[in-house]
Amino acid sequence: MDKIKSFEINHDEHHIGLYMSHQEYSIYTYDMRFKTPNGGDYLDSAVMHTIEHILATCYRNSKYREQVVYFGPMGCRTGFYLLMRDLDIDKVLPLTVEMLRLAIQFDTIPGSTKSECGNYLEHDLEGAIREMKKYLSNITQ
Ligand SMILES: [Zn+2]
Repeated sequence: MDKIKSFEINHDEHHIGLYMSHQEYSIYTYDMRFKTPNGGDYLDSAVMHTIEHILATCYRNSKYREQVVYFGPMGCRTGFYLLMRDLDIDKVLPLTVEMLRLAIQFDTIPGSTKSECGNYLEHDLEGAIREMKKYLSNITQ
């Protein structure tokens, strides 16, 4: 089998930040790296789950909502994937800053009732806000 694109990235040289990892046709894949790969510090599952709910809601309500293909967690728990149609980093970075500024003001978790979510008890709003604030300060410095 072919090695998939995201395994071709040298994770030893990858740090906290926002990067376009690859482009296929009009779909741009961005790595929102919250944690240093193999750094020993990973996002907690409940925290990731809550960030997924909040940021997916923000992006899908943004001015680029029609171009959002996917937002979801990385299995290695160091960050998230954001897939956008025809949107380059010059637009995605300010958009992401705007989305995070909005996201850290949430006081409830969208879609977190039993009928809306597959693991509705596993959420951590406080932890999600803390990690998003940390990430926001990392990408804006
Ligand atoms: Zn859920």
